[in-house]
Amino acid sequence: MARKIGSRYTANQILGRGSAGTVWLGEGPEGPVAIKLLREDLASDQELVGRFVQERTALLSLDHPRVVGVRDLVVDGNDLALVMDLVRGTDLRTRLDRERRLAPEAAVAIVADIADGLAAAHAAGIVHRDVKPENVLLDMQGPLGPGGSHPALLTDFGVAKLIDSPRRTRATKIIGTPDYLAPELIEGLPPRAAVDIYALATVLYELLAGFTPFGGGHPGAILRRHVTETVVPLPGIPDELWQLLVQCLAKAPASRLRASELAARLREQLPQLAGMAPLDVDEPDTEPDPEPEAAPAAPEAPAARRGAVPLVPGATPADSNRDTHTSMRVPAPDELAGGARGTARAPRAAGAPRPGSARHRASARRRRITLGVAGAVLVVAAGMGTWAAVGGDDADATPGKNPGQSAPASP
Ligand code: ADP
Repeated sequence: MARKIGSRYTANQILGRGSAGTVWLGEGPEGPVAIKLLREDLASDQELVGRFVQERTALLSLDHPRVVGVRDLVVDGNDLALVMDLVRGTDLRTRLDRERRLAPEAAVAIVADIADGLAAAHAAGIVHRDVKPENVLLDMQGPLGPGGSHPALLTDFGVAKLIDSPRRTRATKIIGTPDYLAPELIEGLPPRAAVDIYALATVLYELLAGFTPFGGGHPGAILRRHVTETVVPLPGIPDELWQLLVQCLAKAPASRLRASELAARLREQLPQLAGMAPLDVDEPDTEPDPEPEAAPAAPEAPAARRGAVPLVPGATPADSNRDTHTSMRVPAPDELAGGARGTARAPRAAGAPRPGSARHRASARRRRITLGVAGAVLVVAAGMGTWAAVGGDDADATPGKNPGQSAPASP
């Protein structure tokens, strides 16, 4: 089922599907390429097409070994496509799903690669805005590095920004993937380079722990945790690595490291991490769930911190979906601060995976495929009480708490 893309490219076979479109293995005048064909609704948006063309120079000029190069942008009839370097390998989400947790050396080597790529982008004035494991590709044909990991490359530059057109998302809306969203974005500030550092530190935490620091449950609850909660230390993590994580997950963007500094500091730690086994971290879904009415846990109870908290008392928490962009209204400060009331747990079926865990993600993925829904789109129509989520149906809730800044803590 080959199809022509513009006059120079042929798309031969689907490599994968993402939130913005489908990625094809294709052929161009200079050999094999990956072609991302944007979703029809995006391709038919005239304003987006205009921005796509405007962004052309910036996207094409980003040339770095840790960034998946964009070679061409094609606007042809109903098709809107990014032609990229072909990376023969897998994405980091697939590896993480397979291994659950990575050995610290491999995790740090991968994240240092991505920090290098970000450093180049930030130096060129480009903010990625959607750093997450799905957007990290592992080049299986590249040489093996520390911890036996293949070179990692960051992809999807510019896509979040393209989709985030003024008409699609007014100034009061956020575009991104909830688990990786920096607190300043949630508070309505414009995306600067530090949002990528926060997201990348979230990825590092996830590679080490098997779950993200603030994920799980309703997207609104995830957002609130980013703003108000302190990251929980990982057992057995070397102190220097933990300090680095805490610094890059700081609520204040200015406190985070720059990408080049982060890459250097991570690489300094590689020798001490050599041979270290993956951390022995309890999967959040191994905890037994207390009965809903028996679990009005105190706000500071650490074991129960990863579930969903309804932003409005009585609202039903929905499934979180870290694979997709979320478009939602920026909560007002008083709404974000209102977490103390959300302490009741919603019941979870016996044996059902806890939101945020690898098992939950796998089942959510299967469900999406079954439903044929490309991804969950969260729309906040009017006020925090009217969440409508399409594509997710799990429910879980645990207490939200610990208002304050993230602070260094020893494991
Ligand atoms: P998402 O929107 O979830 O970030 P993408 O649309 O970027 O996903 O990619 C979907 C899948 O296509 C990826 O998981 C990956 O397997 C594959 N893919 C994306 N870009 C490339 C590339 N440049 N080379 C090879 N495979 C790619």
